[in-house]
Amino acid sequence: MRDLISIVIPIYNERENIEELYERLKRALSDFDYEIVFVDDGSKDGSTEIIREIAQKDGRVKGVILKRNYGQTAALSAGFEVAKGDIIITMDGDLQNDPEDIPRLLEKIREGYDVVSGWRRNRKDPLIKRRLPSSIANWIISKITGVNLHDYGCTLKAYKREILEDLSLYGELHRFIPALASMNGAKVTEIVVKHHPRRRGKSKYGLERIPKVLLDTLLVKFLLSYRTRPLHLLGGWGLLSFFAGFFIALYLSIQKLFFGIELSRRPILLLAVLLMLAGIQLISTGLLAEMLMRTYYESQGKKPYSIKEIVTWKRESST
Ligand code: UDP
Ligand code: MG
Repeated sequence: MRDLISIVIPIYNERENIEELYERLKRALSDFDYEIVFVDDGSKDGSTEIIREIAQKDGRVKGVILKRNYGQTAALSAGFEVAKGDIIITMDGDLQNDPEDIPRLLEKIREGYDVVSGWRRNRKDPLIKRRLPSSIANWIISKITGVNLHDYGCTLKAYKREILEDLSLYGELHRFIPALASMNGAKVTEIVVKHHPRRRGKSKYGLERIPKVLLDTLLVKFLLSYRTRPLHLLGGWGLLSFFAGFFIALYLSIQKLFFGIELSRRPILLLAVLLMLAGIQLISTGLLAEMLMRTYYESQGKKPYSIKEIVTWKRESST
């Protein structure tokens, strides 16, 4: 049986792009068994009606219409929920990604990879506003998460269905799906894809992404390394801080008790108090985080691991 391929496309005010994208997808996918899931993320420019029209005349197209604008990550999640495919492809709805790259992504999945990410080597976006911050971000993200990709921001990606099933996405974490998936043991790779300048419609992102992506990187690093043992991270720094403060205080006390040096003239006393208090707070936060983590796993019956297979001795059946 042939694999069903779902193309999930978030759409927010892309009126002028949808029809052409749809036509080009049909051409690129004619050899495949596919469905297209357009997720309308609260568009106000008439995109909704265009999606509705296409979905009503073509059985291979589904329209998922959200109640309001939730953002690209939520729109993608909604699409994943509806998509039935064994392989899921995500792409932008603005024609910046090229449908002709899809067969090459699928080839890599067939080779056995779980996630294939697009790399816009020749990216057609403004330098200062987009390409520069994004290359810095890509460098930081790959160093911190240990998943080495050149282009996290590219929406054109392919996933095996199982990978997305174990994933819950919040905020703007769609950029980090490969990193989060590799946390669950996925095999990740990338291929160079084409990229086109945006010809119609407006880009939805600007420089305000920078602090958001930075914070998300921190969050993902935390999830990757400390999700099941937050006390090791927070408590580690807490202990360090507490003992640094403690030894300064000890040193000051010895000077006061044995040499009569007045504490009122020692500003370093403030540092000692600050370090000890910060230490206590970090350790308590770590303990709270442990409780929260347990509630998270145990209340939902989630496991901190997932078993790939169980191998066991099998008796040879005699005939
Ligand atoms: N998008 C969305 N909801 C949003 C913002 C964007 O569904 O709140 C969609 C948008 O329609 C496009 C894709 O996400 O299909 C990427 O957006 P955009 O092209 O503006 O991002 P850029 O290519 O400039 O990074
Ligand atoms: Mg775009």
